Amino acid sequence: MKLYVIGRPNFDEKALIAFLRGQQTSWKRTRGVTQAEELVEVSGRICYMSFGNMQSPRSNKEYIRNLIKMGHESVLEHVSWTFILAGVSRAFTHQLVRHRVGFSFSQLSQQYHDETNAELVEPQILKLSKTAKQAWLNATKASTAAYKAIIQSLEDETSVLSKGLTKKEYARLIRSAARSVMPNATETKIGVTANARALRHFLRVRGTIPGDEEMRFAAALILKTISKEAPSLFDDFSIQKMSDGSPIIVHE
Ligand SMILES: Cc1cc2nc3c(=O)[nH]c(=O)nc-3n(C[C@H](O)[C@H](O)[C@H](O)COP(=O)(O)OP(=O)(O)OC[C@H]3O[C@@H](n4cnc5c(N)ncnc54)[C@H](O)[C@@H]3O)c2cc1C
Repeated sequence: MKLYVIGRPNFDEKALIAFLRGQQTSWKRTRGVTQAEELVEVSGRICYMSFGNMQSPRSNKEYIRNLIKMGHESVLEHVSWTFILAGVSRAFTHQLVRHRVGFSFSQLSQQYHDETNAELVEPQILKLSKTAKQAWLNATKASTAAYKAIIQSLEDETSVLSKGLTKKEYARLIRSAARSVMPNATETKIGVTANARALRHFLRVRGTIPGDEEMRFAAALILKTISKEAPSLFDDFSIQKMSDGSPIIVHE
């Protein structure tokens, strides 16, 4: 499993200063914080115009902590990340895309993309049992062989239906049929954009489930990455290890 961050929060300090000048006020900035953290702080301050004389001595970290404590988490929606997750299974992404609020997804299409050479994501727990591993190998081999056979035989087919369609349309039709036999373990790639509030919800409900191994790995990878980019937004989460060494998220 790999995660690539391709988009991240970008704070335009000059624009903020121009706005504050227009309001005859200013902002006391905490040194050494990230753009994501500044965006959240400033967005929160807009609610009360707590700049200049109205600004409390709270540091950026304390300010964000307080927003979260008070449940004023809509402010966290102003920062989002876009990442690509690769080397994950369709089983995993099926669960991931259930998150409706604050998430956007773009996933590899099994209608446009030929899956003949698809990789498979092997559940780590199979290492514990040769029998289980062999059963998994047998089943996935049979599925991928069936996929190839379906594609090949339908490509050779010159039915009435294939005549009425363009080559591309027919290819889509037969991939749609063939993909129905591909296993949940089929590797996929998914582009994900999510805001900090949605990510916090995801980490809380998904990263903490001992029985969901791939989800725990993904959640830990996401937390590890975003907590470097916005520590104060995620410092109530930590990554601990289960007895087998795999990660699990703990929320304070
Ligand atoms: C342990 C576990 C077991 C699960 N088992 C199953 C299962 O067996 N079958 C299954 O289908 N799914 C299952 N799910 C998926 C689960 O039901 C959710 O679809 C998924 O976790 C997304 O969570 P969410 O709805 O909170 O997130 P989001 O869709 O991102 O929503 C975030 C929050 O917004 C609010 N919200 C969103 N939509 C609405 C709405 N329509 N009305 C009111 N409030 C809303 C809620 O507060 C929600 O928590 C399971 C999830 C977990 C964590």
